[in-house]
Amino acid sequence: LRPENAPKLLTTLEQKLEASREDVVALQRDLDDVRREAMLDPLTKIFNRHYFDEGLAKALASANESKTPLSLMLLDIDNFKHFNDTWGHQTGDQVLRLVAMTLKSNIKGKDMAARYGGEEFAAILPETDLKGAAIVADNIRKAIQSKELLKRSTSEKLGRITASFGIAAFRPGDTPSSLIERTDRCLYAAKHAGRNRVISEAELKSDGTAAA
Ligand code: GH3
Ligand code: MG
Ligand code: MG
Repeated sequence: LRPENAPKLLTTLEQKLEASREDVVALQRDLDDVRREAMLDPLTKIFNRHYFDEGLAKALASANESKTPLSLMLLDIDNFKHFNDTWGHQTGDQVLRLVAMTLKSNIKGKDMAARYGGEEFAAILPETDLKGAAIVADNIRKAIQSKELLKRSTSEKLGRITASFGIAAFRPGDTPSSLIERTDRCLYAAKHAGRNRVISEAELKSDGTAAA
């Protein structure tokens, strides 16, 4: 190496170093994107079932430790098969997006909304007792029912949709599955009692029907 070539060599090395720094930044960004996408439901862009399951386990552990209340809400769109059969699956998909956004915009802070499955959604409500959860759920129920649906392409009126809700509160000793099971029983009772309503476990009789 001749001294007069040293500055040139240094510049080349610096350029290579800078290029690999940029590669690392780009890879990190890709990784972040992949991680974020892995948490989301592709259709509605709210959290997916996998991420919900993790979130619920953590939320239960935290409620248990801090001795603070926690409620779980399950929401199922009413007669959605009929809606799809009448207006088509793509329009149905738009409705799922709308319900997801309605759900998301009616919760806050530590709450977590997710698509639980097909036309079912869930929300974890930390620091929320059953009465609080009933208010949140009923607000979402009203918000969903208030929307007059229009077909994007033609502005054709599609009427309204409704949803049924089950809510249950964390009890010491609950596992994610025991809490989901009680919430699901409430949802089933809400369907059975005529749909478009919220049933909490406080209203549930031992035979699984809702108290009058
Ligand atoms: P219920 O009031 O008892 O809940 O009646 P339902 O018709 O909503 O319930 P059912 O379980 O019979 O049907 C659920 C429907 O949800 C059937 C399916 O076509 C629709 N669905 C599930 N996932 C999707 C989806 O990703 N997109 C669309 N468009 N529809 C979906
Ligand atoms: Mg369903
Ligand atoms: Mg349904």
